[in-house]
Amino acid sequence: MAKIIYVAIGNEILIGKTINTNEGFIGAQLTSAGIPLETSITIKDDKEIIIKTLENCWKHYDVVIVSGGLGPTHDDVTKYAIADFFKKELIFDSSAWVNIQQMYEVKDLPIPEIVKTQAEIPQGFTPLPNKKGTAPGLYYSENDKHFFALPGVPSEMKGMFVEHVIPILQKNFPANPIFQKTIRTIGIPESILYTKTIGVQETSITKIAFLPKSGMVDIRVYGTSEQEVEKIIHKFLKIIPSQNIYGFGEDSIEKVFHRKMMSSGKTVSAAESCTGGLIQSLITNNAGSSEYFLGGVVSYSNEAKMKLLGVGRATLDTFGAVSKETVREMVLGVQKLLGSDYAIAVSGIAGPDGGTEDKPIGLVYIGTFGNSGLVITKNNFSGPRIEVKTKTALTALHQLDINR
Ligand code: ATP
Ligand code: MG
Repeated sequence: MAKIIYVAIGNEILIGKTINTNEGFIGAQLTSAGIPLETSITIKDDKEIIIKTLENCWKHYDVVIVSGGLGPTHDDVTKYAIADFFKKELIFDSSAWVNIQQMYEVKDLPIPEIVKTQAEIPQGFTPLPNKKGTAPGLYYSENDKHFFALPGVPSEMKGMFVEHVIPILQKNFPANPIFQKTIRTIGIPESILYTKTIGVQETSITKIAFLPKSGMVDIRVYGTSEQEVEKIIHKFLKIIPSQNIYGFGEDSIEKVFHRKMMSSGKTVSAAESCTGGLIQSLITNNAGSSEYFLGGVVSYSNEAKMKLLGVGRATLDTFGAVSKETVREMVLGVQKLLGSDYAIAVSGIAGPDGGTEDKPIGLVYIGTFGNSGLVITKNNFSGPRIEVKTKTALTALHQLDINR
């Protein structure tokens, strides 16, 4: 198995001004190519540090991929560090120069003098054309080792990586394809889900990962045998209640909701209190949602709940805005108001203030009127305000029972 390291070069990453998204992209690309990354590090834009790091990496890894600092400005020192470390002179490369000229021709701009240095590359290196910018990437190989330097700008790096880096690596390192499948769950905390499924175990060639995120947990199973991966997935599916599984792979709750609504031929409306419109925003993020989404109301105040949805004053006085009874009247109210087949309503306490012993922060009632009638659930969501809102909206979309 090839040992591959990725080195992000950039002060702005170390000080937290830039999130290292290149790492995620490169990691995912290499994994799906069956030649995953072994190590990833970030270092300063400093010539001496870059040279030291290259010494270490070139000794211990088969493939070294660096990104960042290839530009023409004073803070871009990567190319000079590379030339020093590999003991190569910088020479003018006419094919790189043609590429740079073309970039400026397209933009119809004069070429600044400083850009000419971009066409200089270490002797013996191959320039990798950059379709989105002027700095070419660099490739060098020696004694079955491979070195790549790519621009830091993600849009420039990505195309170059897919078009040049992956094919070179695939040619040199026959991959062990990795099969993976992900079950996406909602409503069961990670520790409980883990305990429930403790009997499902990894094998020597198959790994299991629990990936929690904001009220949802993904279970990712991966390994070199597709059959083994499927076997383990099947074991999980036998244990986890189907109402807690919202999808597989790249499915999101919004997408699954959209898919089901599109094929149901039904319409839906929404009445929102604590989510302030988020549910309707998530629904309308899907192109084509006008086929089934009639509209809704943001009934934040008691007045709005009464005036727009017909919630009774007595209901609000007796049970309060955050109650099963109020949410029931909200669902039925919005359904009647807009004449939809289905309806969703939520009312809760998003925090950070407003919690009481009876009704703590995170208490949310979710009402749905779906294929099997009215369902009202009491939920206790954790986290800060925005997280409670997000969990509420996603749980509500998931809760609606849609006829297929
Ligand atoms: P340029 O020619 O534009 O100067 P460069 O190769 O010199 O490109 P940098 O100067 O290191 O690249 O970074 C350029 C931009 O790309 C910056 O805005 C930086 O925040 C972003 N960037 C750099 N490295 C990464 C990374 N690992 N992940 C995400 N963004 C990055
Ligand atoms: Mg730069």
